[in-house]
Amino acid sequence: MNQKMKTFYGLPAVVKFCKKCVISNQRPNSTVEMKNINEKKETIAFDDDGVCSACSYTREKKEINWKLREEKLFELLEKYRSKDGSYDVLVPSSGGKDSSFAAHLLKYKYKMNPLAVTWAPNMFTRAGWNNFNNLTRVGGIDSFLYTPNGKVHSLLTKLAFLNLGHPFQPFIHGQKIIGPKLARKFGIKLIMYGENQAEYGNPLEDNLDPFMKPTFFSIDNPLDMILGGEKIDTIMKKYNFTLNDFSSYIPPSVKEIESSDIKVSFLGYFEQWDPQECYYYAVENTGFKPAYERSIGTYSRYAEIDDKMVPFHFYTTFIKFGIGRTSYDASQEVRNGKITRAEAAYLVSKFDSEFPSKYLKEFCEYISVNEDDFYRKIDSLRSPHLWGMNGGEWKLRHTVNITGLDD
Ligand SMILES: [Zn+2]
Repeated sequence: MNQKMKTFYGLPAVVKFCKKCVISNQRPNSTVEMKNINEKKETIAFDDDGVCSACSYTREKKEINWKLREEKLFELLEKYRSKDGSYDVLVPSSGGKDSSFAAHLLKYKYKMNPLAVTWAPNMFTRAGWNNFNNLTRVGGIDSFLYTPNGKVHSLLTKLAFLNLGHPFQPFIHGQKIIGPKLARKFGIKLIMYGENQAEYGNPLEDNLDPFMKPTFFSIDNPLDMILGGEKIDTIMKKYNFTLNDFSSYIPPSVKEIESSDIKVSFLGYFEQWDPQECYYYAVENTGFKPAYERSIGTYSRYAEIDDKMVPFHFYTTFIKFGIGRTSYDASQEVRNGKITRAEAAYLVSKFDSEFPSKYLKEFCEYISVNEDDFYRKIDSLRSPHLWGMNGGEWKLRHTVNITGLDD
């Protein structure tokens, strides 16, 4: 291995794969607040035994007294429970399996009165639209769909792709702020997200506190906000928009969240979170149906199936970090004891690199970029320490199956 090889995004120069799952040490902790492509990313921690922090957390989860956690949840909900027919808990939802599980459990097991709120996907898939509707029709949950200005959103997605190689960033921003933003509008004091991000390798400390910090969701001056790698102020001037066009993207300030006494929590703190079990629950209780066919880039049919943008999100993570959709899905399933590491590695070899040709035309139209420019951009995102040329084709230097160019 050439130690002097250039790395992009401040990624670790030496690629290592977790001994327990198939994730590598190139996985960034969070890509939401990315400001520019050269920004150094914090990556998933590995311990001295070569085990990633997400796998360590799975071990820690076994030590948690879940009975006690459930009692804590009951106490918390009791404090917020409404008695006059008003909503008492807001569940940010995509209509996917996890949020459907969360909203349904809160309503029917814990007798709360949840409102599910959805930041509209870029391009709804048929399966996504049906599941979104089934949450109310079959699941009996009230739901609110919030759709940002489509002209602005497609422009931001384009900028995010061209500036950051991260076309999903504006959507993730929306999903992140929609809870506090709409809770204030509806006068709801408790927000309950579903899963805990530590499950996927974010810092373990995040899991010690059942409440998330208001600073995670807020910004003090909207004009300073950076979306798609550019300041809103700049985008307004360059593309002739006004601040009004960005209303949906502006989160409440820390002061506004604190003064309205909104608490933001996540069910994963109180309940043992298992995506596959959420899926079975949602099928049973909210009319959730898997996609009609296997999702692009992975073997699964039930995770993140609502937006045609998702395959491009994972394709860009594959190009930037060498970690595609199968690596994420299979690692999670290894941790939850559904498949072995060897099975996961096999699935990675089969699906991780799959190109989302099915939606390419639609994606390029959506962001007004022609296909040649799309491919040029993709190739510019390949870090030299991860990719090399072999017989005129790009190849990963290292894979979990030890089949890379430099393995
Ligand atoms: Zn791991």
